[in-house]
Amino acid sequence: MRVSMVAGNWKMNLNRAEAAAMLAKLLPALSPAQDRQYVVAPMAPLLELVCSICADSPVKVAAQNCHDAAKGAFTGEWPASLLKELGATYVILGHSERRHVFGEGDDFVARKVKAAYGAGLVPILCIGEKLDEREAGMTDEVNRRQLDAVLSCCQGMDLSDLVVAYEPVWAIGTGKTATPAMAQEAHEAVRAHLASRLGAQVAQGIRILYGGSVKPDNVDELMAMPDIDGVLVGGASLDPAGFARLCNYR
Ligand code: PEP
Repeated sequence: MRVSMVAGNWKMNLNRAEAAAMLAKLLPALSPAQDRQYVVAPMAPLLELVCSICADSPVKVAAQNCHDAAKGAFTGEWPASLLKELGATYVILGHSERRHVFGEGDDFVARKVKAAYGAGLVPILCIGEKLDEREAGMTDEVNRRQLDAVLSCCQGMDLSDLVVAYEPVWAIGTGKTATPAMAQEAHEAVRAHLASRLGAQVAQGIRILYGGSVKPDNVDELMAMPDIDGVLVGGASLDPAGFARLCNYR
């Protein structure tokens, strides 16, 4: 039985006061549950604050990105070890905005996954196809390619706690959600590929989240799918009542 995850990616939103106000409303609406985990991902300069507010709550904290190097001349970047030191448990890597707005390639993302593990963080690895790739029937091929870069780079490592987030790029921030059936189909193919590379037992334990315009009114039907183990949420994670409803999916 996989423990599900509801993760909110705040992106470049919520300053200190707004983050504190958001959590003051969110935390009382959540109770610890055996079957699910809650995660919020603030901007990196807010990690320490958010971690301290969430310390006695069921909410864990993720960073939104890291560099693959441990230190050096990389102006404006931060290493995984610093995010860990600031209290993060998870780090989102390979988000479509990193891949397609900032031009991060598969190999760079893969090296970041390795670096995150090396620093004691659990990666939430985002994968997913663009609209033209879906229309060309390339969804599974793109997902496999993005996964393979990580699996090759991390060969021999224990990836059993890796979290994969399938986020079709055309569904992110657009209000267009993959139907539960479309998402399930992609997740099933991702799990089958993980099984072929890592073995069936490891693949059965890996959580595969869906992301792309998840809202309170579609979360329950997505979470009813057998291979959807949680959701990664952008826009709807900024509203405390809405995000609490997502966390309390039925
Ligand atoms: C995301 O950015 O990971 C995301 C899924 O965004 P949204 O929920 O706004 O589509």
